[in-house]
Amino acid sequence: MENENIITMDGPAGSGKSTLARNLAQAVGWSCLDTGAIYRAVALVASERGVGLDRPREAGELAAGLDVRLYAENGVTLTVVGDRDVTGLLRTPEISALTSKYSAIPEVRAALMGLQRRLGAGGRVVAEGRDMGTVVFPQAPLKFFLTASPETRAHRRYLQLAREGVPVGREEILEGILARDHNDSSRETARLEPAPDAYIIDSTNLSAFEVETIMIGEAKRVFGI
Ligand code: C5P
Repeated sequence: MENENIITMDGPAGSGKSTLARNLAQAVGWSCLDTGAIYRAVALVASERGVGLDRPREAGELAAGLDVRLYAENGVTLTVVGDRDVTGLLRTPEISALTSKYSAIPEVRAALMGLQRRLGAGGRVVAEGRDMGTVVFPQAPLKFFLTASPETRAHRRYLQLAREGVPVGREEILEGILARDHNDSSRETARLEPAPDAYIIDSTNLSAFEVETIMIGEAKRVFGI
């Protein structure tokens, strides 16, 4: 039987998913699966190897064969491809924009499905992404869909990137977020949308602490932890 100890956390760019998934995982003593990092690694390597968006079959093969591993270190997900730590290369506006294009390729999504399920197979995982509750772990007993207004999400992303030392302007971030919203919500496969049984939280007027409190309460109720 598939592992039932999974919480999914989906939502658009800048909704606070990553921080909340990490904090929730820590609060319940589970691990966190950052699937965006996997898609970002595929986009990075595909662009480095010159596998363009017009070559979906090869992009899918690349994704299927990519030796990508995630490690949690001091609250940050380290992404390693082969023996190369690519963490610092994945969050630029260029790679963010490219990722949302490569991730619309059905061959890429199909190739990454097995990897994501294997990573979640041991259970006790908070899986974070766009289609965790709808496609990858539809059996998860607790599913969150986190959202916020585009302006709020752009502001949060600006603060996060400033902390990480990535120099990007606010306007550029808002434009990038709106473009990714559009790509992620209009693609044919695994469109960004809440699962029918998802707990939807609009965090525009809520602090991270308030959202976390709701999530921990639900996790206790559903899993008795
Ligand atoms: O979550 P993050 O912003 O790192 O994700 C980067 C991009 O990867 C998203 O804009 C989306 O296009 C894609 N993605 C996806 N499915 C997932 C996780 C991420 O399509 N499960």
